[in-house]
Amino acid sequence: MSIHHPPVSVISGAASGIGRSTAEFLARQGHKVVIGHFAKDPHDPQHTLDLVTAAGGEGVILDLDVSSTESVDVFIHSAVEHFGAVTHVVANAGILRQAPMGQMDDASWDELLQVDLHGVMRLVRASLPHLARGSSIVATSSIVGGYYGWAEHAHYAAAKAGVIGLTRSLAVEFGPQGIRANAVIPGLIETPQSLDSVNSLGREGLKAAGDYIPWGRVGKPEEVASVIGFLLSDHASYLTGQELTVDGGLTVAMRG
Ligand code: NAD
Repeated sequence: MSIHHPPVSVISGAASGIGRSTAEFLARQGHKVVIGHFAKDPHDPQHTLDLVTAAGGEGVILDLDVSSTESVDVFIHSAVEHFGAVTHVVANAGILRQAPMGQMDDASWDELLQVDLHGVMRLVRASLPHLARGSSIVATSSIVGGYYGWAEHAHYAAAKAGVIGLTRSLAVEFGPQGIRANAVIPGLIETPQSLDSVNSLGREGLKAAGDYIPWGRVGKPEEVASVIGFLLSDHASYLTGQELTVDGGLTVAMRG
């Protein structure tokens, strides 16, 4: 069995940020896109669908809570019903919370892991029966966990490091079936997540980061989306089990 044409990509967390830009990018590449929308968040998935349509593509908005196995299974079932296939998976949904270790109760730890790590596993697991030779999976990790620790964000770092181990293992397990799996490691990208000054850097912190990022500024969501698109595409046909870092040089810069 080889993959269905045109390709059909499911994207979690596609109502905002990197997921939204990825939907738009993939639509421009001829993918049909399934826009996973977490209804409890205020993001407008219609905006993503409008971008997809303006790019000449076709999309559908479906509810998705990656912390629920039932929701993920219904999402994939509905995606297949709508487009007749699922060929590519972008496991991108994530949350970021500040939590000093001394105040890290089990509920805070679980909530984050359920989305940022278990959610990736759930989306891939539900998609697998529909994937075939030529299919490709991309999961979103982070420089936190991928390279760095971050005080008061240990659960996030643990989840994002876990995404890398998970993705490598998928590459090994499904390589013989012609299915690739890779992770993208974004640096500091301006999105609703990083603009949140309680749990992340906020607007001022992102602006200041330009002083220590070699490229001189934080990234834009579309600059990660195009790398996700490359990893999904046949241009990356021999690339599997890897992480691609998109950070304007942040992690290779020696300071001091
Ligand atoms: P974002 O907040 O715009 O996107 C995250 C998306 O995930 C949102 O649309 C949100 O509604 C969705 N989501 C949250 N909980 C969910 C759930 N339970 N089920 C389904 N969807 C859910 O921020 P973003 O920066 O675009 O984040 C995308 C990914 O990139 C995340 O995994 C994030 O951790 C990662 N990342 C971001 C940065 C950055 O600097 N922005 C850096 C490294 C990694």
